[in-house]
Amino acid sequence: MSRVFNFSAGPAMMPEEVLQQAREEMLDWRGSGMSVMEMSHRGKEFVAIAAEAEQDLRDLLKVPANYKVLFLQGGATGQFGAIPMNLLRGKQSADYVNTGAWSKKAISEAKKYAKVNIVASGEASNFLAIPPQSEWTLDPDAAYVHYTPNETISGVEFHWVPETGDVPLVADMSSTILSRPIDVSKFGLIYAGAQKNIGPAGLVIVIVREDLIGQALPITPSIWDYKIQADADSMSNTPPTYTWYLAGLVFKWLKAKGGLEAMAEINKRKADKLYAAIDNSGGFYRSPVEPSARSWMNVPFLLPSGELEKPFLEQAKQAGLVTLAGHRSVGGLRASIYNAMPEEGVDRLVEFMQDFARRNG
Ligand SMILES: *Cc1c(COP(=O)(O)O)cnc(C)c1O
Repeated sequence: MSRVFNFSAGPAMMPEEVLQQAREEMLDWRGSGMSVMEMSHRGKEFVAIAAEAEQDLRDLLKVPANYKVLFLQGGATGQFGAIPMNLLRGKQSADYVNTGAWSKKAISEAKKYAKVNIVASGEASNFLAIPPQSEWTLDPDAAYVHYTPNETISGVEFHWVPETGDVPLVADMSSTILSRPIDVSKFGLIYAGAQKNIGPAGLVIVIVREDLIGQALPITPSIWDYKIQADADSMSNTPPTYTWYLAGLVFKWLKAKGGLEAMAEINKRKADKLYAAIDNSGGFYRSPVEPSARSWMNVPFLLPSGELEKPFLEQAKQAGLVTLAGHRSVGGLRASIYNAMPEEGVDRLVEFMQDFARRNG
């Protein structure tokens, strides 16, 4: 068996230690005689697994006590609809910041339930930079302000948190959660699909301030009604038990690595190495993103010509470096380097890039 360095944007690499532990516990979880995936979600074993995962996540993110942590299904995409249904709270409109592909999807789904005001857009920069907050036109009567801290496809990331006063800030952190410490108290709601930086697909985590829930629109499906799910410890129906368990193993792994301060240091170093390889390639590689908005997690880059992409991808694969193609909507190349991508994977990619440039420059 030889594992590759997988630069996929999601589903993405898992920490090898977590996979090993899951393998060891696969057939018989700690003397229970069964796999976690065979357990009743209401049995005491799974209830303990679920509670421990929540506590570890709360510890990692220092989630204040007045926030609920929900483990739901339907992905981040499900939340694009659930958020307006839950958070309008009698108001008519919500503010959205449009910084690219995932913002746009959140906006078009929200329009089914709310009047959406686009308060800022990255369009002028072709979505390769973030419009500064001084240019935003926030509405003090909006139900909430929604933004996408990391645009996974274009590799544009906020390295700052918007200031929205009393209007709750809502963040789609699918591709950046747990990559660095955050101050949860600045947000009304944070959500993230699991398959990038948390665990396998099938789970979406919602962290929501208590006072914002309990006023969902009557049409809200009960599985996406935050109050119903909070009261039921996210078990108003059968939750994605095995994914929840694996997410819990990832949280333990992060704690053992030193928590989010340590991860931020590693992630910054990994990203710096990769951007340096691009910037110092004598123009062979090019990062399309405005430097202050470069993502730590998703690094798109371009070659001098499109014809070189196929040989790049083929030769990288030979070297054990896979899934480096850019998103089909933008082309080019993209290396996603989430928490589970070891620094060695980035070092090997940098070496390969330097060698490829020498041979083709
Ligand atoms: C991947 C991604 C999504 C979509 O997640 P699903 O789980 O497929 O619904 C939404 N937002 C961002 C920022 C993403 O990276």
